[in-house]
Amino acid sequence: MASPGSMSLDGLSSCSSSDSEFHGENAEDLSFSELDAIPEFLMPCAHQLKSLQLDHNSITVLPRSIAMFKNLITLDLSNNQMSHLSSELCSLSFLRTLSAKNNLLDTESIPKDFGSLQALEILNFSGNGFIDVPIQITELSRLRSLYMGQNCLKSLPSEVKHLTRLQNLYLGGNQLSGIPAEVGQLQNLACLVLCDNQLQSLPPTLVSLRRLQSLSLHNNCLSTLPPEIVSLNLVELSLRNNPLIMKFVQEMVHNPPSLLELSGRTIKSEKVKYSHHDLPGNLLHYLESAHRCVNPKCKGVYFSARVEHVKFVDFCGKYRIPLMQYLCSPQCTAAHPSVQASESDTDDDDSASQKIRKVLLG
Ligand SMILES: [Zn+2]
Repeated sequence: MASPGSMSLDGLSSCSSSDSEFHGENAEDLSFSELDAIPEFLMPCAHQLKSLQLDHNSITVLPRSIAMFKNLITLDLSNNQMSHLSSELCSLSFLRTLSAKNNLLDTESIPKDFGSLQALEILNFSGNGFIDVPIQITELSRLRSLYMGQNCLKSLPSEVKHLTRLQNLYLGGNQLSGIPAEVGQLQNLACLVLCDNQLQSLPPTLVSLRRLQSLSLHNNCLSTLPPEIVSLNLVELSLRNNPLIMKFVQEMVHNPPSLLELSGRTIKSEKVKYSHHDLPGNLLHYLESAHRCVNPKCKGVYFSARVEHVKFVDFCGKYRIPLMQYLCSPQCTAAHPSVQASESDTDDDDSASQKIRKVLLG
């Protein structure tokens, strides 16, 4: 339970949660003071304080008197025994940083109008007992960093997409078996920590995270990665302790393509001309759904009868990571592509993989 939250990010500078420091009369540090409440002597100057540190005490319930500290910008409640945050917290309309890591909080502990803390930019709820992400958190539209590591999260709500300013999302050390495709809509995400979970796959929508620099996936159940991952501009990718060896390649099954698919493949690969005068709408739509075979030497396409193919891609000339890709047929190989490509058809997906500068496998 008492594990580090925001600082356990392997020294990734992009993930730092530090906020402005406040000094002198605007700041009060009462950490490690054996407190079980907010001391009375603070009350006369409560409205002047911008920073209040109450971490490492024995507070069980955030007192309602917190409402007196209405100009607080930073509040640290970490390492107490809090099981409840009173709704008065929501009146702190200037609060930008709230840390309540290593307490006893769960979804029921959070005030109903927690989403009204609209100035909040950094929220640290790591090391608590959350089973899900309270929906109010997804209403914090200015949030830049959300730390919910070392909880018991089983899922992430699709509403996470509303956190459009999010840069750091720390979800390490939970029980996540998947993440919603909507995470791909977090356009400002730079650091995504999903290590120490039970992830079996990742949504291909992660390719939309154009600002993502660091992706932490170690200690999960991933056997392959979506091929789109090589086109991310990652600086760091950690993969150790995943079953990345593909024993299922031997278990691969291939259903033969239908006559419809075979006709579609021929029309596409032979570039047969057609228009909406020749074909009904559903067939036009079907032809548009063709996917290109991943074999760079093959100019064939597939529709639904694809063959799973695990391709090991070199990173840094040192590591090879398995990416899930799809071929048009089980016989389609570089030496014998199913549909011969012309000389001008080349593929550059290997050069894309050079973008990832650091892969941590060991
Ligand atoms: Zn092929």
